[in-house]
Amino acid sequence: MKQSVKLVAGNWKMNGLGASLDEVETLKAALAEEASACRVALCPPATLVERMAAICAGGPVEVGGQDCRAEASGAFTGDIAASMLKDAGATLVILGHSERRQGYGETNALVLAKAEAAVAAGLSPIICVGETLAQREAGQAVEVVREQVIHSLPLALAGQAFAVAYEPVWAIGTGLTPTLEQIEEVHRAVRAAMIERLGLGGAEQPILYGGSVKPDNARDILSTPEVGGALVGGASLKAADFLQIIRAA
Ligand code: PEP
Repeated sequence: MKQSVKLVAGNWKMNGLGASLDEVETLKAALAEEASACRVALCPPATLVERMAAICAGGPVEVGGQDCRAEASGAFTGDIAASMLKDAGATLVILGHSERRQGYGETNALVLAKAEAAVAAGLSPIICVGETLAQREAGQAVEVVREQVIHSLPLALAGQAFAVAYEPVWAIGTGLTPTLEQIEEVHRAVRAAMIERLGLGGAEQPILYGGSVKPDNARDILSTPEVGGALVGGASLKAADFLQIIRAA
């Protein structure tokens, strides 16, 4: 399968104040000195999107949100619309992260509606899927992930720029990772499901691996067949660590 250019995206989760933007300045300065072989993105908390986008304007680092509402506007206290992220300078948005699927009961149908809203606003969604430890131990990982892909990806994604992130729930923030064979097996299943759902529109968009990607395992993971990039949590908070992962892509 022809692969598009890899994408290494950082998810800051609920971390970062204005002072953390120093890390972005460091990252930007380092990337100005070296041509990165991959696309690079950072997804900070909503409060930092506009400031980070201003720092990154015209450079190689794209900026994204971590979630958006499916509705375009309205009485939804505390939520953020895709158009607001776009207006603040974001070009991407993470959707269906397991911390939202589990913590807020987000269903595949809701993730699909959010992805439609993101595309309508001109954002590229990164749609997360992944099995729990109990599901993996029951031998259900491939089937669970296939179901999530089929039911979370709107048909509107065909012909659009987007990514799917395979993030085993048990690997996020734990230091545990699947074997490279397990990653390849699930990524092949994700690719098959993307094509089943979107036809050729699902053939080339990158499939990112996420879950305890660190400088010391990034090269092996990123050179595994069908791995089109990484979604990185903890190791994206420090420019020095994130740069090592970017260089491994
Ligand atoms: C994530 O939150 O998407 C993630 C992969 O986190 P970590 O890299 O810290 O496991």
